[in-house]
Amino acid sequence: MPRAQARVDLAAIEANVAGLRGRLTGDAALCAVVKADGYGHGAVPAARAALAGGASWLAVATAAEAEDLRGAGLDTRILVMGALCATELERAIGARADVAAWHPRFVESVAGRAPIHVKLDTGMGRLGTRDPDVADATVTAAGDGLAGLWTHFATADERDDRFFDEQLGRFRAWALPHRERRPGLKLHAANSAATLRDPAAHFDMVRCGVAIYGLDPFGVDPAAHGLRPALELRSYVAELKACEPGESAGYGRRFIASQRTCVATVPIGYGDGWRRALTNNGDVLIRGRRFPLAGTVSMDNLTVDVGPRPDVRRGDEVVLIGGALRAEEVARRIGTINYEVTTGLTARVPRVHHRDGEPPGEA
Ligand SMILES: *Cc1c(COP(=O)(O)O)cnc(C)c1O
Repeated sequence: MPRAQARVDLAAIEANVAGLRGRLTGDAALCAVVKADGYGHGAVPAARAALAGGASWLAVATAAEAEDLRGAGLDTRILVMGALCATELERAIGARADVAAWHPRFVESVAGRAPIHVKLDTGMGRLGTRDPDVADATVTAAGDGLAGLWTHFATADERDDRFFDEQLGRFRAWALPHRERRPGLKLHAANSAATLRDPAAHFDMVRCGVAIYGLDPFGVDPAAHGLRPALELRSYVAELKACEPGESAGYGRRFIASQRTCVATVPIGYGDGWRRALTNNGDVLIRGRRFPLAGTVSMDNLTVDVGPRPDVRRGDEVVLIGGALRAEEVARRIGTINYEVTTGLTARVPRVHHRDGEPPGEA
């Protein structure tokens, strides 16, 4: 039993993509977002599974991420969504990626060497230009190199929010007249939440990240959207000891037994991305039952109160994410989002890819 392991079901990613694709309006394409090592799932295997499920584009945040995909032999269109400094732009071009632009000067430095997606900032307040005239000038500068027009929503995951519709309106007003003149242009705006929330946001392509991994973009329940979580985080019971009243576990004695109990030590900690904020604040599954974390989560280990007469044994598997214990629950406990839970798993945790429990073969 390895000390900690993330098991990633590629069949789930494939099924999630196929399911999302089935909901798209018209013949909108699905671009699978595999930035940050596929939200912690492994970018290359996740990309292959997404393509098998019907994705036809990939998106990443950085030039280096595009290089990694090309290096693995993937030859799909890849959009680098992030800002690029001069050397990063050269690397993105070298990786035959599409790039984002929102100023004519940047388009000049691309000099026809990469397809360009002009970004209007309709309210995200991050990348892109807020000024439709600057966006138009960027479109003109791109000339035949123009491949797409795009934007990004700030509040697609907030159910009753009206700002989403404002952003959608601004994007339509700017982008649709351009596409009337150039029918081949790809318009894209929707992330996972927008894709699930409003077919009017699908345009020619959607950019889905979190949902393809079976995580709920609304942070509640992936099953409500027909999504299957792809990642399970597992470790094992490395040590098991009786704890008399007054005895403690972990740094700072933040768990002190009030009655006789047993404490299991599980060799995974914040060095693996299992956050210290989960101290005395979370459950794990052992033999299918929930037990509470007891004491400080340290860098390499955590401790679990398994009760006075446990049937738990040394060597038993411990599930930290999986089954009834979803990444959404872990996120809620520490005031973050499911994205950060899986993306935060560190390189020390081996990713083991499988398909429905079987070796993945040549996916
Ligand atoms: C990360 C990202 C996405 C994907 O968002 P999800 O919520 O994971 O679907 C789409 N577009 C942009 C610009 C992004 O940065």
